[in-house]
This record gives sequence, structure tokens and C-alpha cells, in this order.
Amino acid sequence: MLLIHCPYCEEERPELEFRNAGEAHIARSTDIAAESDEDFEKFFFIRSNPKGVIFERWRHIHGCARFFNAARDTITDRFLLTYKAGEPKPDISKLSSEHGPAAWANRPPDQLNVKPKAKRSTKGEA
Ligand SMILES: [Zn+2]
Repeated sequence: MLLIHCPYCEEERPELEFRNAGEAHIARSTDIAAESDEDFEKFFFIRSNPKGVIFERWRHIHGCARFFNAARDTITDRFLLTYKAGEPKPDISKLSSEHGPAAWANRPPDQLNVKPKAKRSTKGEA
């Protein structure tokens, strides 16, 4: 089961406790009635949908119920990091290809603001 780190509860919880709330960092107009149809279409419907790292809003619906943001790799479905709503989008452009988004997927959890999974007991297993 996929575990997601809630930055408010500061613990990893099963994905069933969370709900995706779409792409993060979408700028909302202060006067939406003044928007052109094209600009409204971009705001309301057009999403980046990348193959790779995406920044998303998530809600810990069966926990603290708060919204937070996450950087997730759409190829591996691995969460690279989570951060509180209102915090700035992490700058991944400064990372070289060696340390770029693809390399993030190979970093150990302690370098990703994600706590490692608890080890299961092997008691009773051969
Ligand atoms: Zn929470």
C-alpha cells in the first residue's frame, strides 16, 4: 500500500486516508468575470499532466482534513516530498540532471522529507 507523508500530522499514513485535489500552484484570477473565455479555459481545464514530476494538492481527508502539496513522480507514483499549503513550490530546476527529478526517485526517503516505511515483523517467517 502506498504511504503518504502528511506534513501536518508529520507521519506516513495509508493512501486510503487521502484524496487528490488536482494540480497545485494554479494561479486564480482576482476578477474571474473579467477573464476571456480562453484564459478561463486555461485556468479551469488545462493542466500540465507531465510524464515525470508533478506538483499536486492533496487532502488528508480521513486524518487532519488539511490540504497540503506534494511533488510526485507520475512514472513511479513515488512521492518525492510533501509540504504545507502556502509554502512556495520547491525549485527543482536548480538540480542538475544527475540530481534531477528522475534521480529523486532513487533517493533514500530520509532525503525526501518522507519518513521510511516501518519494517514489518518477520516473526514467524522462514
Ligand atoms: Zn494530516
